[in-house]
Order: sequence, then structure tokens, then C-alpha cells
Amino acid sequence: MTKYGFLGIGIMGKAMVANLLQAGLDVTVWNRTASRCDSLIDMGASHADSPAAVIEKCDITFAMVSDPEAAEALCFGEHGVLAGMSAGKSYVDVSTVAPETSQKISAAIKEKGGMFLEAPVSGSKKPAEDGTLVFLCSGDEALYTLAKPALDIMGKKSYYFSETGQGAQMKLVINMVMGTMMTAFAEGLALGDKIGLKMEDVIDVLAQGAINNPMFQLKGPLMADGKFAPAFPLKHMQKDMRLALQLGDKHSQPMYTAAAANNSYIKARDNGSEDEDFSAVMKVI
Ligand code: NAP
Repeated sequence: MTKYGFLGIGIMGKAMVANLLQAGLDVTVWNRTASRCDSLIDMGASHADSPAAVIEKCDITFAMVSDPEAAEALCFGEHGVLAGMSAGKSYVDVSTVAPETSQKISAAIKEKGGMFLEAPVSGSKKPAEDGTLVFLCSGDEALYTLAKPALDIMGKKSYYFSETGQGAQMKLVINMVMGTMMTAFAEGLALGDKIGLKMEDVIDVLAQGAINNPMFQLKGPLMADGKFAPAFPLKHMQKDMRLALQLGDKHSQPMYTAAAANNSYIKARDNGSEDEDFSAVMKVI
């Protein structure tokens, strides 16, 4: 039976591991803050003391951490992924990072004889809980095939792009669109409110037309109520906007609306909303 590892038990990691366990898979978990693993251990997960120990014990190890800095710390740090890596081991990083981060980690894993797949996800806390994420994969195709049964438990669809870094690029393009849509939506709600329209009416009228989408309908009523419990933390949205803008800069693609939206996320992050949902950008709008 394949042994699976999972590093990073945050909002997303916890929900993803719960689905793997419910499907009967053998999963060993590790998180920097160990107590966040407790509920998964209660569900049947094993625990290991370091990322290296998880890699050594498991055939395929997934990682879901905050950002490029966390992904690198996890891989290259003391008792990190690389310290446990050897031929026959596989590593799937599902965090949202810069393409260069994936490429750097991929090269280091391959040098140790392991296989690497980047597989950032489209979808938030609820799709993670429902097992309906979308995986944007690139890297070792043989590992994509090996990991597919687990990806199919955690998600509803997987894409494979051949070149390492393309999964990260696709993820950043998608989240850049999402981040700018959210600020436009928040501005619409705020303007409506200021001129005496009810926010719920604005959301309902939006729902009737071609620009309706699940995000407006899911987040809108919560935003109107001033509820911003984190499904996708604002600090991660701002990180994705920053990485997408860096990608645009590198490839000479101007992104005027994304740059403006990013300023709102920076302001909201620095105003104390970093750990709230990204829809809390509404507070500074
Ligand atoms: P989260 O709840 O903030 O969890 C972040 C995880 O990263 C925690 O397990 C944290 O450990 C770990 N971490 C942070 N810095 C670390 C370091 N230096 N070394 C080791 N571990 C470290 O975030 P999340 O919402 O699950 O998101 C995780 C990733 O998925 C991010 O890249 C995010 O952009 C992406 N994503 C999120 C969503 C969403 O809707 N939430 C959707 C798609 C993609 P501690 O518990 O010790 O802090």
C-alpha cells in the first residue's frame, strides 16, 4: 500500500488530509506548529517529527505551505525535505509559489534522485473540504501518473503542463484575475451602500446577469454582514498578487488593474486584516 506524507496542516492541508484519510489512505503528517495535526491524528493519521522523517517513511509526500519562503524553508532547512530525499521518493508541492521557487526545488530533488511535481490548487477551503479542488500540475509526468489517485480524492480535475513552473504560472494568472475581481466587487458594494442601495439588492441583481459568479454569491452576503472569517487568508492573496505582478514585470506585460488592486490588499494587510479572508479588502475600500 502506498504511504503518503503531508507537510503543512493549515486551512487547506487539514481539509485535504481529512479527505485522504476518509478514503482509507495511509497518511503521515507534519506541521511546524505540531498541535495543528491533532485532529488528523484522531482521525487515524500518523505523525512524524520532521519533514525529513516524513519523506523517509513515505513514497509520495505532499506539501501545502504559505509562500515561496515557507516552501524553501521546508525543503532546504535543517531536517527538511531534502535531508530525507533519495531515489524512489516523490515530492508534490501544492503550495502557491513563484515558478522560480518550483524550479529551484525541482532541481534539488532531482539531484538527490527523487521525483518532483508542482501542483498548486484552484479552489478554496470549501472545495478542499468537498474534495473538488483543481490541480495545476507540472514536472515529472511519471509522478503525475503515480499521484493521480490521491489528486482525484482531493480534487475534481487535474491539468498537466509539461514544463516545471507552468503550474505556478497558471495559478498566479488565475488568482490575479480573482484578486482584481474581488476589489471591483467590493468597490461596487461600497458605492451602492454609499448612495443608499442595499448591498443584498446589488448582489441579487448581479446574480441575474452574465457577470454572475460563485465567488460573488458566496462572499457577497458575508461581506455585506461584515463577516470575514478566513477561507483564503488576505496575506496569501496579497502574496499571489505580488508574485503575479513580478511575473508581468519579468515578461513586460503591464497589469494596471492588478497593480491597483494589489495596493488595496497591501493596505488591508497592514491595517490588521492579514489573517482575515481576502474579502476583508472591503474594509479599506
Ligand atoms: P494557512 O492556513 O496560513 O497555512 C499555512 C501553512 O504553512 C501552515 O501549516 C504553516 O505552519 C505553514 N508554514 C508557514 N511558514 C512555514 C515555514 N517557514 N516552515 C514550515 N511551514 C510553514 O494557509 P492555507 O490557506 O492553508 O494556504 C496554504 C497555501 O495554499 C498558500 O500557498 C496559499 O496561497 C494556497 N492556497 C490557499 C487557498 C485558500 O483558499 N486558503 C486556496 C488555494 C491555494 P504553522 O501552522 O506552523 O503556521
